[in-house]
Amino acid sequence: MLRRSYGRRRFLQSSTLFSASLMASVISSRIARANNEPGKDEFVPAIVIGSGFGGAVAALRLGQAGINTVLLERGRRWLITPEQNTFATYRQPDGRAAWLSSTTYDGVPVDVYTGILERKDENGISVLCGAGVGGGSLVYNCVHYQPSRELFYRVFPPEIDYDELDSVYYPRARSVQKVSVIPQDILASNYYLLMRRFLEQANVAGIPNRLLDLAIDWDIVREEINGTKVPSAIAAEVWYGHNSGAKNSLDRNYLVEAEQTGKVSILPLHLVTTISEVAGHGYRVSCNEINESGEVVTTKSFTCRYLFLAAGSMGTSALLVKAKATGTLPRLNDYIGLEWGNNGDTFCVRSGVPGPTNSQQGGPASALIQHFDNPIGPISLMCFPVWNAPEGTIASLGMGIPSVKGKFSYDATTGLVKLNWPENGSQSGDPKVLEAAKFTYKLLNRKNATSKGKNRTTIDLSGSTTAHPLGGAVMGKACDFYGRVKGYKRLYVVDGALIPGSAACTNPAFTIAALAERNLERILAEDIVG
Ligand SMILES: Cc1cc2nc3c(=O)[nH]c(=O)nc-3n(C[C@H](O)[C@H](O)[C@H](O)COP(=O)(O)OP(=O)(O)OC[C@H]3O[C@@H](n4cnc5c(N)ncnc54)[C@H](O)[C@@H]3O)c2cc1C
Repeated sequence: MLRRSYGRRRFLQSSTLFSASLMASVISSRIARANNEPGKDEFVPAIVIGSGFGGAVAALRLGQAGINTVLLERGRRWLITPEQNTFATYRQPDGRAAWLSSTTYDGVPVDVYTGILERKDENGISVLCGAGVGGGSLVYNCVHYQPSRELFYRVFPPEIDYDELDSVYYPRARSVQKVSVIPQDILASNYYLLMRRFLEQANVAGIPNRLLDLAIDWDIVREEINGTKVPSAIAAEVWYGHNSGAKNSLDRNYLVEAEQTGKVSILPLHLVTTISEVAGHGYRVSCNEINESGEVVTTKSFTCRYLFLAAGSMGTSALLVKAKATGTLPRLNDYIGLEWGNNGDTFCVRSGVPGPTNSQQGGPASALIQHFDNPIGPISLMCFPVWNAPEGTIASLGMGIPSVKGKFSYDATTGLVKLNWPENGSQSGDPKVLEAAKFTYKLLNRKNATSKGKNRTTIDLSGSTTAHPLGGAVMGKACDFYGRVKGYKRLYVVDGALIPGSAACTNPAFTIAALAERNLERILAEDIVG
């Protein structure tokens, strides 16, 4: 019953709010008709698989270049309703919170539905990924964090020109998504006491800190505060979406603009299963069209001349590793599936923090500590809100530079691709990053202790989950420095799979988008004939 009502809502929204993309719908229905004929491939010049940061940039720039493009996305559209009830909430989770799972990421039972957040339990690590039109931007904390030049080159190869990214491509990505720091009047409200406390603690400990750039519409947050919009950001709702519409997710900027070119057609609920080469022609992409319960409605097959892989590090790596193992793309090199990293992610909850922390825990993550001269390794700590945190709790995400790598492998008996982290399996987690994070948290606790030498703040630190999977088809190894897959022409990786395991102590989405902008510009100029 629940499932059916989500479906109806989606349909109504699509027909009213997306009339601007009429042209794209016409292309899409033509393709759908052709695919109803069994065994018949539909040709489209360009296909993009996945609609997150890499896929959204690719779709927009291809559309603007006048290239008919189909974007295949496994998840559904999530459009903000006038009733402000698009998403599940932490307080009342349901199937909309989880991708085809009977529990949410944190184990609450829900109906099985094509929900927004997937938790993939791999060998040695759990990985969180967004699902739906907009990819990871639907679930993200909206943080746009550019790495420093120095840390960038600890991770990225010298062939990537940081200054060019800094002056051209980060600003380009930033301008489409409308990014800004939290305004002072909102930061000063009771809802953001936690963020202020986090920065104060860093000041007391003498560690550099600042506000983060966020893709948030702050006017909507003001409406939440004055009661004219449903509390979302101010109520610590983040990962399941903002019912108020405060989040500037990609489906509300890049992807809308892509559809408005009239050249890009987005097909939600299309799960790509196989990619293969069609000799002398291009590529074949096979997919299952699914319903909102995940059941296969029909199978489809497309051919294209240009194929852009943007299914995220986990999705793109799985498609490529399977293609190499099963021989559908036999010339992929031996770097496919390697050089995976967790971005040096750690999660920490500090309890018993002195002083008030949370009259309410407003979000998303607005405050940042940059402990780059940590003697064990550079660390960024980002404070994030927790809706049910008791007083005296500060939760934060740490990002360091990983010292261990992961790799993907194909299991011929199950037909599944699995991530193994660390790749040699001889140790658990990344001890160096955990040690570095612990050093900074202990420093914060010690310097902020009030009870005469006795520090009662406890640290619960873990590195067994990541929200920032990166790598698997890395630049300079599996691909060239513009994402062209080695061994093939007109096959590209444009997402987090291209990044060598770390975004240099930052959240990666901004860098993924900036690199996609850079790479698309080069690919359109050199590879694509109109
Ligand atoms: C809870 C959470 C919070 C986060 N917060 C932040 C943040 O504040 N700032 C930040 O920088 N990063 C954040 N991240 C990370 C960020 O979301 C990712 O780094 C980013 O989205 C990756 O972009 P991408 O283009 O590589 O892939 P994604 O954005 O993951 O997009 C991949 C898309 O491909 C689709 N797909 C996958 N497989 C298939 C298939 N076989 N067929 C069709 N479609 C497929 C997926 O459904 C998805 O829509 C967060 C991640 C999570 C999970």
